[in-house]
Amino acid sequence: MSESRDVVAHAAYLCGLERGELVIPRCSDCGEAFWYPRSTCPLCGSPKVDFSEVTTRGKVYSRTVVHRGSPPRGGDLPYVLALVEIAEGVRVLGTVVGDDADAVTAGDEVEFAVESHDGLSYPVWSRVEVETTA
Ligand SMILES: [Zn+2]
Repeated sequence: MSESRDVVAHAAYLCGLERGELVIPRCSDCGEAFWYPRSTCPLCGSPKVDFSEVTTRGKVYSRTVVHRGSPPRGGDLPYVLALVEIAEGVRVLGTVVGDDADAVTAGDEVEFAVESHDGLSYPVWSRVEVETTA
């Protein structure tokens, strides 16, 4: 019962990816956003969860280089996987793409995008250059 509602919650996230959007669950009762998608708020237990599109920029909280397994999007090994903290305060996992993916480190600003492969949509992040203000 709660498992099938979790499937629905995950589907809302996947449908967002298909539209090129990052949608994040947010609790209608306590107002907190959370990650990963699930049908019940992990903070207060409320079943009133809404999905909405969120900021598409974030900061790398942590990153690692994956050398084994099946790379996402039919890509190559190794690839860079990052935990990205977005403005909503939640951390989202995704592959880092771009020529400088190897150089991305914690604290770097990254931008969200969706890449498709074999009919599936994958969240990816790429580094953005931040203009320094004087
Ligand atoms: Zn809640």
